[in-house]
Amino acid sequence: MRAYTRLLGYVWAYWPRLAVAGLLAVLIAGMTASYAWLVKFWLDDALIGRDLSMLLMISWAIPVVALVKAAASYGEAYVMRYVGNSIVRQLRNELHGHFLSLPVGYYATQRMGRFSAYFINDVNLIQSMATMGLKDAIQYSVQLVVLLGYALYLDWSLALLSIVALPAASTLLIRMIRRMKRLAGAGREHLASLTAMLQESLGGLRVIKAFAKEAFAQEQFTQQNERVFKANMRLYRLMEFVHPSIEFVGAIGIALVLWYGGRRVAMNVMTPGEFTSFLTACVLLYAPVKRLTAVTSQLQPVMAAAERIFSILDEPTEPQLDRGTHDVRGVTRGLELQCVSFQYGPEHPAALQEVSFRIDTGEMVALVGSSGSGKSTIVNLIARFYEPSAGRLLIDGLDVREIKLESLRRLIGIVSQETVLFHDTVRNNIAYGRPDLPQEAVTAAAQAAYAHNFITAMPQGYDTMIGERGQTLSGGERQRLAIARAFLINPQILILDEATSSLDYESEAIVQEALAALIKGRTTLVVAHRLSTVQRADRILVLEGGRIVEEGPHAELLRQNGVYRRLYDRQFRDEEPQNADEPIRQTEAP
Ligand code: ADP
Ligand code: MG
Repeated sequence: MRAYTRLLGYVWAYWPRLAVAGLLAVLIAGMTASYAWLVKFWLDDALIGRDLSMLLMISWAIPVVALVKAAASYGEAYVMRYVGNSIVRQLRNELHGHFLSLPVGYYATQRMGRFSAYFINDVNLIQSMATMGLKDAIQYSVQLVVLLGYALYLDWSLALLSIVALPAASTLLIRMIRRMKRLAGAGREHLASLTAMLQESLGGLRVIKAFAKEAFAQEQFTQQNERVFKANMRLYRLMEFVHPSIEFVGAIGIALVLWYGGRRVAMNVMTPGEFTSFLTACVLLYAPVKRLTAVTSQLQPVMAAAERIFSILDEPTEPQLDRGTHDVRGVTRGLELQCVSFQYGPEHPAALQEVSFRIDTGEMVALVGSSGSGKSTIVNLIARFYEPSAGRLLIDGLDVREIKLESLRRLIGIVSQETVLFHDTVRNNIAYGRPDLPQEAVTAAAQAAYAHNFITAMPQGYDTMIGERGQTLSGGERQRLAIARAFLINPQILILDEATSSLDYESEAIVQEALAALIKGRTTLVVAHRLSTVQRADRILVLEGGRIVEEGPHAELLRQNGVYRRLYDRQFRDEEPQNADEPIRQTEAP
């Protein structure tokens, strides 16, 4: 019900057009009724009265009425299509905007396929209802009213007689259909237990045979089968009764109308033409009644679709959840995690447990640990994709929850293993979202990221279109585009999450150079799988099972002979036989 009124709100925004559609519907209904009206003159004056000029006039009037009706139908359909499509456009815009502003955590618990289903199927369902369904509802209810009005005007007692017969028959029909549904449900249940029994018989065959209970099992089955038989017969008795009884009731109705109307004609209360006109109106009523029932039966799935869409639109977005008030422009002291614990959900184990560390401004800290130890989780918390379950994150001593989300995200740049490139030119991918940036700035960023040479070697240079997800570029090239993008963002806090782990050694060397340039002078957290990357860090944190187990510079950690040493040794053992899985198209001199 709530979805219903809310959807109507979307429709109502177009009320001037709806009013036009309503006026056109009245015109269409008038034209339809005038067919019935013309029948009266055709029979009384033209045929019985042998008035040839009337016959000619009626013959002219029919195509004129048809033309007006066709034009009005076209206009109404066009207006309603416009309204329906506008609503769909608006819903899709709202959904897309909402998808963008929902917290990352929201998606972790949903299947991604659901979202395209909302976008396509549900919105399309609403579109069909908002265009043709709404058009039918308006047009045919007006037609129903006009035709009924005309029938009442011709002869109200006859009209009432036919109208009274209708609801009586339809309530009878509805009750029968309801009972049929109930009986069909019971039949299905009996059948389900019957098949279950078959499965039991076959599954428990050895037991049944070993205990010599075949006759007993068969007896049980026969009894259940008898129940299925009876349930089915109850259903069929009613089902096969419905159609003949409708026809029978209809015949009684027709007989009544013909008898009563014929008497009225014989008593000269009605002319034969009026009576035929009345019957024509009754026949014309058939279409509106049928279409209106069809529309109401389609309403159910459409409302379910609207409910799904509205439930998404009601999910709180990041801006709605954001309680931050502070605007932070620069980081002067650094970033700190205080006793941070985190769990992805109540049913998940703790991903982080009491993690504390700080990164001073300009410092480069590395985070190492085996896969699943919680490295990316720390990155997610710093970017506030998730909120810590306990503990605090501070920037310059200020709890990040007090910083406006937008302002926080502007401070942070993330380069990760997964480089996301959009279907656009190289230039626009580097200057993502800022098409007005001067070319010099883009070129400078690309040069700093060691990407300029391979870009200019491409056929259209900076205007080369990148295929979906950058399939035409090698891993190292994609990574350098991502680094160039980070240069342009110029973040105060830089996070590299396994930025080089998918690269072969040769391109990694170039990307390392690019990263070194990017890191310089920034507060940096490097998450690395490969320990060669982290040796340059000021400090290394070793994470295991969501806890920091060791901390210090490379040489010192090696000397400690602990987890770091183990990771280090294992890596050099593992990496020796590894070969480059991604060919380098082009090497670039730094
Ligand atoms: P790392 O980056 O060190 O490989 P992660 O931080 O990605 O590790 O993962 C830490 C732990 O949290 C793992 O046990 C992982 O299975 C779990 N995890 C990561 N992301 C999610 C998520 N979205 N929902 C539930 N559990 C997650
Ligand atoms: Mg990770």
